[in-house]
Amino acid sequence: MTARVLVVDDSLPNRKLLEARLQDEYFEVAGAASGAEAITLAQRWSPDIILLDVLMPGMDGFEACRRLKAQLSTAHIPVVMVTSLNDQGERVRGLDAGADDFLVKPVDQATLFARLRALLRVKQVLDAWRLRAETVRDLGFEPPSAPPEDFEGAKVLLLSHDASEAATLSHALQADGMALEQFSDEKLVWQKLQDPAAHYDLVLNSLPMPGGDPLRLASRLRAEAETRDLPLMLIANAEQRELVLRAFELGASDHVLRPINEQELRARVRNQVRRRRYQLRLRAEFDRSLELAVTDGLTGLRNRRYVVRHLESLLRDGAACGVLMIDVDRFKPLNDYYGHAAGDAALREVAARLREHVRASDIVARYGGEEFLVVMSGPGIEETGVVAERLRSAIGNSPIDLGQAKLPVTVSIGSALSAVSADAAALIAAADAAMYRAKSLGRNRVEAATNQDWRLA
Ligand SMILES: [Mg+2]
Repeated sequence: MTARVLVVDDSLPNRKLLEARLQDEYFEVAGAASGAEAITLAQRWSPDIILLDVLMPGMDGFEACRRLKAQLSTAHIPVVMVTSLNDQGERVRGLDAGADDFLVKPVDQATLFARLRALLRVKQVLDAWRLRAETVRDLGFEPPSAPPEDFEGAKVLLLSHDASEAATLSHALQADGMALEQFSDEKLVWQKLQDPAAHYDLVLNSLPMPGGDPLRLASRLRAEAETRDLPLMLIANAEQRELVLRAFELGASDHVLRPINEQELRARVRNQVRRRRYQLRLRAEFDRSLELAVTDGLTGLRNRRYVVRHLESLLRDGAACGVLMIDVDRFKPLNDYYGHAAGDAALREVAARLREHVRASDIVARYGGEEFLVVMSGPGIEETGVVAERLRSAIGNSPIDLGQAKLPVTVSIGSALSAVSADAAALIAAADAAMYRAKSLGRNRVEAATNQDWRLA
């Protein structure tokens, strides 16, 4: 895993030492000598991780961290604070400033790389979601603003055999409004985690794990789709260091050492839950924007952009396709006479009837003003004409109730099959030409594309 690491330290020898070690492991490295320089470089160079010295003249590491985490352009970059004292009060201050982890000087090499890899793995997942969110923003959809920070109702699952430790942990997390559920059986934990209604924000695993294997738990969490992004935090003794390092390699997110400092535990849990919720929010935002980007606002049908891509990908996969171009007859006079609101209501009703009468596997889209496109694929393509006839009568056979009037509405339909050409644009154009022929032959009818319609296309 190669990545960009920004090393921030006011001492040149310290910086050079860390930089050299990271370069030996093929990380790309840049150095900054102060908090202010770190902030500028973080914006310009977009590192994947920042190693931040705590004690620096001027702006110290805590303040630099707070500023990095307060800026939209740098908030997502994990920050590891490098302290000279193994002081719990200092760690809590750092965690409160938004730090993601700590390393104590002199920095232990195995711990350094285990922590970097764990943080980078999380960042990769978040980056993928951030990128998708940006893409939908480029399409013109503004994301909802971030909700205020709130941990109320967060659910933490604890795998532990120690009831008294569990009680202590539960009490500590309650102070942040979080609920802890303890289980001592690994199998039961799996059942719980796979329950789609469970919605856990974090898994805590208290070591040792009698009769179970914490490394298996860590790797299984990462292997299964339902739990892949769920953070895992270990509670361990100092002498379990090797096991903890292995667990980090397998996907553990963080750890707390005994004796447990309540402030540190809470700060670490908050960080994990915050990151988890941020990720869930990005995903929900993406799903919502994607939905908007492919949906026609008036009718709720798929839009033109979506249906054309859909047809192209079906044809690329070699699927047999049929398309129906459907146009509402004499829509303009209807719109002029009854008004736009009535016109919109008529289009919505036409859309609803189309949706109701196509096959489950067919896609109906609003193609333009009063034009709809149906894309059919797979078995039964030869029924395209039958489906078209069914759609025509579903609309023409009963008038649309507009409240003030019952309006007879009819459609003209042109159909074309990919057996003639597997080019999406040609297929749509042939169906369109057939539809115009249906219009000229008197409307309220279905016409299949003829050789001449294909030639016109
Ligand atoms: Mg310093």
